[in-house]
Amino acid sequence: MIKVAIIGYGNLGRGVERSIKQNKDMELIGVFTRRAPETVQTEGAKAFTMDELKGKKGAIDVCILCGGSATDLPTQTPEWTRLFNTIDSFDTHAKIPEHFAKVDQAAKEGQTTSIISTGWDPGLFSLNRLYAQSILPVGETNTFWGKGVSQGHSDALRRIEGVIDAVQYTIPNNEVIDKLKAGEKLELTTRDKHFRECFVVLEEGTNAEKIRAEIVSMPNYFADYDTEVHFITQAELDKEHKAMPHGGTVLHTGTTHENTKQVIEYNLQLESNPEFTASVLVAYARACVRLAEEKQYGAYTVLDIPPKYLSPKSDEALRKEL
Ligand code: NDP
Repeated sequence: MIKVAIIGYGNLGRGVERSIKQNKDMELIGVFTRRAPETVQTEGAKAFTMDELKGKKGAIDVCILCGGSATDLPTQTPEWTRLFNTIDSFDTHAKIPEHFAKVDQAAKEGQTTSIISTGWDPGLFSLNRLYAQSILPVGETNTFWGKGVSQGHSDALRRIEGVIDAVQYTIPNNEVIDKLKAGEKLELTTRDKHFRECFVVLEEGTNAEKIRAEIVSMPNYFADYDTEVHFITQAELDKEHKAMPHGGTVLHTGTTHENTKQVIEYNLQLESNPEFTASVLVAYARACVRLAEEKQYGAYTVLDIPPKYLSPKSDEALRKEL
């Protein structure tokens, strides 16, 4: 049995707890949190303080870090990698090389193994972009996200004065996807690829048109997109928009000889983004333990991991299913 610890218990942490229940070769040792453990409502797992984790070195094969990418993982992953094998879902793309270097150093010093930035993007989408571009070097890759909730954009809406609550959906432009699949060559701008749809709850007496203008012109978040804004009640938001669906498509269109068209499409449709991401982390936790058993210490990303290490099946069984 692979003994797993969850570090940080939010949406992703709960998803990991659920996923471990579906993986018969894994056992959950507990949840480790910065909050008072008795205040954390798990679905059966024991909750402990972070201090208690330090004493469990021999009792845990791998820690799955479920903190946020903005401020938790940049410190938590290197810190815990000094003591344990770790997995994280660090998703700030531009900072992955810097994060990798820190975790790699910690892992080499602690003689541990860490796989960082797993999940679906970065993660499974990164792998599929690599496969597609290596197989069809003459071609073009586009990634489309959605339809799904973007936490970052929803947070940006909630920070506007007069907004009580809000949810933002990123919606891919399916017309553009169809044209690319048909082999059309397109010069695409940010605005062409995705739409944004916002559901916003306002404080009483707030000028809705002023807020709408503020949203659609917000730099970095909405100004470069066609954005639709709907004002709704808190009850409607709670009823219709509290799930966390997401997904997307990696689309690569290439040619081999002359105009022989080849299309590679990898698509995810997720009713729960955190539960799916958690399931990816759990599969990579298995690979992490295998690498550590081979004394392959250091940091890795999904691009470094042999696919068979994700599976609980033997090499022989996998070959039979090839
Ligand atoms: P949450 O905000 O739900 O949880 C983050 C941390 O906040 C937890 O680890 C927990 O730490 C703390 N926390 C959670 N709930 C509470 C609470 N009620 N009060 C106080 N603290 C709380 O984030 P998510 O789980 O939704 O997402 C985590 C990260 O997953 C994201 O930042 C993102 O980077 C990553 N992600 C990556 C994806 C990929 O494809 N690579 C896809 C989706 C997400 P503690 O228990 O120590 O207090």
